[in-house]
Amino acid sequence: MEGLKHLLPDPKYLGVILIIVFVTSVTVFSVNGSLFDINGNGKPGVVITFDDNYVSDWYAIRDMLKKYDAKVTFMVSGFDDLNTSDIEKLKDLRKDGHEIGCHGLDHVHADCYLANNTIEEYLDAEILSAIGAMNKKGFFPRSFAYPYGSHSSQTDAALLKYFKRLRVTTGSNIDNIKDANEAYYKFNGDRVVASVCIDDSEDITTEEILEGLQRAKEHNETVIFFTHQPINYTVDNSTEKVISYERLEAVLKYAHDNNLTFYRMSDLY
Ligand SMILES: [Zn+2]
Repeated sequence: MEGLKHLLPDPKYLGVILIIVFVTSVTVFSVNGSLFDINGNGKPGVVITFDDNYVSDWYAIRDMLKKYDAKVTFMVSGFDDLNTSDIEKLKDLRKDGHEIGCHGLDHVHADCYLANNTIEEYLDAEILSAIGAMNKKGFFPRSFAYPYGSHSSQTDAALLKYFKRLRVTTGSNIDNIKDANEAYYKFNGDRVVASVCIDDSEDITTEEILEGLQRAKEHNETVIFFTHQPINYTVDNSTEKVISYERLEAVLKYAHDNNLTFYRMSDLY
């Protein structure tokens, strides 16, 4: 018994230990039937992801993101092609509180690739090589966005061993953002989540995007958006994967002013 005593906490610290245990484990409570934790999970919000590798253009919106207290996720493809300056910029963005996720090494279309290759080859060439390139520069991605949204239950099962969350897309044939049900996360623990494109090139107006945010707010959901390259001018009927500052700022402002939480991809439980 004498030996056991050493394993037990000193009674005078017991109160403090109990408080720590309580605060760290009992962080979930119910308000109006919704589950919250101390990080705000469960509150309505938005996930904004930027894909590919427009690192300098992402870096240029740092101040805009700060202005609205926005935290976003950058999904990087072609990580092995980034130069030293790009890597430093990504580190600064991470320091600002943004997440750096993975978008594949060569941005391959999973279905097409797997038509002629095995899942092991896909993992080696596209996923593990991308994770390795990121690790080498001090990045440890927790989220993955499928290029072109192309995936299957086979790729999901393989990738979920390496990532907390996988992002797919709703496809481009949606009539209205507020009706793109799959892109609204309901805090149900899904690890494969869909997202809807808010590029200027999509046939979607900024007003429709704001209606999507309004839906998230009213229904206690988190809407997941993806876009690509922020640009400081507007273009009509663009075929490029761009989002104008005007549109981006309208989205950030609406979310901020309506108390939506800016979740990073891996924040969602
Ligand atoms: Zn992409």
